[in-house]
Amino acid sequence: MNTKALESAADLRSLPSVDALLKQPLLVSAMSELGHDLVVGAARQVLEGERLALVQGEASSPDSSELAERVAAMAYGKILAGPRQVINATGVIVHTNLARAPLCEAAIKAIDGVVRGYSAIELDLETGRRGDRHAHLRPLLCELLDVEEAIVVNNNASAVLLALSALARGKEVILSRGEAVEIGGGFRVPDIMRRSGAKLVEVGTTNRTYVSDYADAIGERTAALLAVHSSNFRVVGFVHPVPIDELAGLARDRGVPLIHDLGSGCLLDTTQFGLAPEPTVQASVRAGADLVCFSGDKLLGGPQAGIVAGRRELVQRLARDPLARATRIDKLTMAALHGTLVEYARGCAVQSIPVWQMIAVSLAALTDRAQRWAAAIPGAEVIPGRSTVGGGSLPGETLPTALVRMPARQPAAGLLKRLRQQSPPVIARIEADRVVLDPRTVLAEEDEGIIDAMQAAVAA
Ligand SMILES: *Cc1c(COP(=O)(O)O)cnc(C)c1O
Repeated sequence: MNTKALESAADLRSLPSVDALLKQPLLVSAMSELGHDLVVGAARQVLEGERLALVQGEASSPDSSELAERVAAMAYGKILAGPRQVINATGVIVHTNLARAPLCEAAIKAIDGVVRGYSAIELDLETGRRGDRHAHLRPLLCELLDVEEAIVVNNNASAVLLALSALARGKEVILSRGEAVEIGGGFRVPDIMRRSGAKLVEVGTTNRTYVSDYADAIGERTAALLAVHSSNFRVVGFVHPVPIDELAGLARDRGVPLIHDLGSGCLLDTTQFGLAPEPTVQASVRAGADLVCFSGDKLLGGPQAGIVAGRRELVQRLARDPLARATRIDKLTMAALHGTLVEYARGCAVQSIPVWQMIAVSLAALTDRAQRWAAAIPGAEVIPGRSTVGGGSLPGETLPTALVRMPARQPAAGLLKRLRQQSPPVIARIEADRVVLDPRTVLAEEDEGIIDAMQAAVAA
């Protein structure tokens, strides 16, 4: 044995046993909180890693209390890896990395109402016979959208996949070149089309497509026309998209269905809040789209879901497809979406759905809150800024807001990180080298939490 090997053998003997390590006070308290198994597992993993490092000559010889800290960090880390509620101070209302739309109170209550016990998801309480899962959301969706039939699946990506697959597998679907887009998160229209088994027939050019381009491409094998809302970008200048009503006219004349993927699922008029018009689902239906697909958790402000609505015969073909079963929603989503839709039906969506409250809140109210936060942090100031809607809707559109700008004493990246390390974590952003926080996307009940977090982050 050379000297180095001798040394590492000595170090190996100096490592504590699992049992000895578990006697460290930190791990005794970790075990009482997390239970025995998680902590023992972490202790084994840490000691094994340490042994390996010593054998490979990467001597570090940590003492027992240092080892205990690593074990505790690993054990707690496994718990903390679960989804955590955070405070969104980014000013991006539908933030895809922050789970998009926070739910309204009615949706939360609705979830609570079905998860504690059994729920009649597929039972007709009138007859006692097997019921229809789609029956729970159909009445409100048909009422709100003025359609004959509607079903809900896991998300809008699966809604589009299902529509193409059920209506056009082995056939052709005509799409404008300007709409063969990528929405983000791996959703590319040509890829979804391929997966559905439909053949993409692209018409027109990136910037200009005419209804005659579609007309010329319709043939024996055409199963549908597809229109995709370019939800997350804007093309300006020499452009010509075909309006939905014109496309619907052609589809009707030639006897092929028009599928419209709207993306954000906006049911309200965005211009009343000083925003550009986001196409509404109702307008698309009125214009003559045979099937509309949209998300539940973008501007609808509900849970993750994909809603497909339109002509009864078409929606029923989708409902019968095996993909409908493979992408079906669970009772939590069903309850949450129902709770959200009730708010629209009652006409109080702007007052009760967080996404719409955030869009509608006045600059004066935002300034008030920003001033209250800034007053709690020495050196913080209130400055004008802009919030965005996000979530692949209203690209380039912003809303005026009041930002809290944190003091310049610490480097911005470090402060941003310390805000994320608070409990609950606060997600802010950097503008011109300074950390800024936007009250627009922070829920009213989070005011106290965010002030505590800001104070702790600057004090650290
Ligand atoms: C967001 C979006 C999708 C994907 O919807 P998910 O609900 O995220 O699956 C599809 N099409 C368009 C146009 C979109 O904007």
